[in-house]
Amino acid sequence: MSDCVFCKIAKGEIPVDFVYRDDAVVVFRDASPQAPTHLLVLPVQHIVSAAEVNDPSVWTLIMGRAVEIARGLGLEKEGFRMVINTGVQGGQTVPHLHLHLLSGRNFGWPPG
Ligand code: 5GP
Ligand code: ZN
Repeated sequence: MSDCVFCKIAKGEIPVDFVYRDDAVVVFRDASPQAPTHLLVLPVQHIVSAAEVNDPSVWTLIMGRAVEIARGLGLEKEGFRMVINTGVQGGQTVPHLHLHLLSGRNFGWPPG
């Protein structure tokens, strides 16, 4: 979609430091990190939100890649969080499906 910021990033029209990139999925650092490691993992294809996903292989594409990236960063021992905000009440601000991969601080419960 031409006016979608994440489509522009995925197509290389807005420069970012890609952590991973192929024809189907891209991974880059969140501009406003909420943890020492805060990456965004998104399909190149413009899908508005998780609620719009019809093809379950999209989950393998983004979650599988996120776990691969987390392992590559050596995060499997300390742990990490994967979040997909969905829709307005789900806190989604950019209407192009994306998974947040967060690590480096305590997300346990109770928070502290
Ligand atoms: P959401 O709230 O939609 O789940 O998450 C959107 C995320 O995208 C936010 O954490 C925000 O900081 C990040 N973000 C929005 N625009 C840009 C951008 O142009 N570049 C990067 N790297 N991150 C962005
Ligand atoms: Zn898009």
